[in-house]
Amino acid sequence: LWSPPIKANNHDIANEIGKSKWDLDTPALCVDLDKLEQNLKKVHTRLAGTGVGVRPHIKTHKCPALASMQMEAGALGVCAAKLSESEIMLGNGISEVLMTGVNVTIPKIQRAMALRRKHPGFIQAVDNPQNAQDLQEAARATGIMADVVVDIDVIRRSGVMPGKPALALAQMVDKMPNLNFRGILAYDGGVQHVKGFQKRRERALNTFEPVVDTYEQMKKSGLNLEIFSGGGTGTYDIMSEVPGFTDVQVGSYLFMDCQYIEIGGANNETEFDDFAPSLTVMTTVVNTNHPGRLVTDSGAKALTLNRPTAWVLGEPDFVYNAGSDEYGTITFEKASKTYKVGDPLEVIVPHCDPVVNLYDKIYGIRNERVESILPILARGMSQ
Ligand code: PLP
Ligand code: MN
Repeated sequence: LWSPPIKANNHDIANEIGKSKWDLDTPALCVDLDKLEQNLKKVHTRLAGTGVGVRPHIKTHKCPALASMQMEAGALGVCAAKLSESEIMLGNGISEVLMTGVNVTIPKIQRAMALRRKHPGFIQAVDNPQNAQDLQEAARATGIMADVVVDIDVIRRSGVMPGKPALALAQMVDKMPNLNFRGILAYDGGVQHVKGFQKRRERALNTFEPVVDTYEQMKKSGLNLEIFSGGGTGTYDIMSEVPGFTDVQVGSYLFMDCQYIEIGGANNETEFDDFAPSLTVMTTVVNTNHPGRLVTDSGAKALTLNRPTAWVLGEPDFVYNAGSDEYGTITFEKASKTYKVGDPLEVIVPHCDPVVNLYDKIYGIRNERVESILPILARGMSQ
């Protein structure tokens, strides 16, 4: 018989409230609450009056507490990538969840229908006719109407091809007695990190042309297009130029990361500063034996292998290599001080989404002290 083991690292949570972030044991994932709140508001103030709403993607934070804050800030609902993430969100007080991935395995289709029966705010994506048939059959067997959006291919990753195939699929779904066609998705993932605002804008609008044509055809044929969702942090303020577009699926805007800072913004060519980098990892120096070199306790399992490498706050000359599983190696020529074993460092993560997935909790920090602890309940939920 298997019983769940007790997680040793959760025992002292109550004692951690009020602690300085510099005294946290490491690696520790932290979010600066002032910056987070600023980012939460910013996306809404920036989009106010454009006609485009916000449906944040929780794949970034996997944390119902943060999803609640997004809903309170004015989100239309949230997006989730996976069924298990959708279950966690709907089970923890988030009533509107649009799942942007597809459910193609039998267990997932059954779980998705059970989820829709319990939660009317659950919408799922479909991108091929066979899957639409399978969803229809499962919805009928469950005795429900399931809400569905058609995902349109923009980056050759997922989605039905724009034009005729997408129109045919939408019409097919629309006619199915147990499926309720709600609109379309189109995510231009390859455009999000194009460097330079104008280049990004051009690429985004070009990439979307076939989707817009498809949208027009669908509209002409009388389909319900109450949802036309897509975009991300890199294109959040561009998508209002796309006809019919209803909401942006911003994820990273809440935390930011090195990858996003580097893309440049509309008002700052070298730094995308629309949103403040709120997410950091606290790490500890564990070895100083070699000159020009510091070893930390945060390697790939704390920061991922993503590029660019993590940035150490206050140490612009540090080059952080997280190539080892358990150790980070920093090389440098100049340092702001002499470091000794046990010294803490704070780093901005290369790419927020996969880093968050490595931790059980995020420390909510205000004025350098722990104010709250945010459990990452959908951490590891990749099904
Ligand atoms: N929508 C979809 C379908 C995604 O896959 C992602 C992220 O990969 C997002 C939205 C969020 O994008 P970002 O983190 O760039 O805001
Ligand atoms: Mn990402």
